[in-house]
Amino acid sequence: MDTEPLTLVCAEVIDANTDEQIEGSIILICERCERDVWCAPSGQDVIAERYRNRLELLVLCVPCGLAAMTEDDDRQILDITEAQARELREHYRR
Ligand SMILES: [Zn+2]
Repeated sequence: MDTEPLTLVCAEVIDANTDEQIEGSIILICERCERDVWCAPSGQDVIAERYRNRLELLVLCVPCGLAAMTEDDDRQILDITEAQARELREHYRR
């Protein structure tokens, strides 16, 4: 079983009212800089799954995610899931 702390990188909220966002997205907070970030339904599923299995998950904005990657090569950044890829494809097709 995967017990490594996992990092979920989310896009920053620029303007909650006008940002183009995937339907069903919620706002979370970057655990480093406390900036608001968007979390799409597929990301919410990842969070729920980690929570159910009592595994760590770090939510970061893109700049903090990139910084974390360069600081700590061992940190696992979550690969895009099939659900996330589908969401993005559907979102950008519009
Ligand atoms: Zn951040």
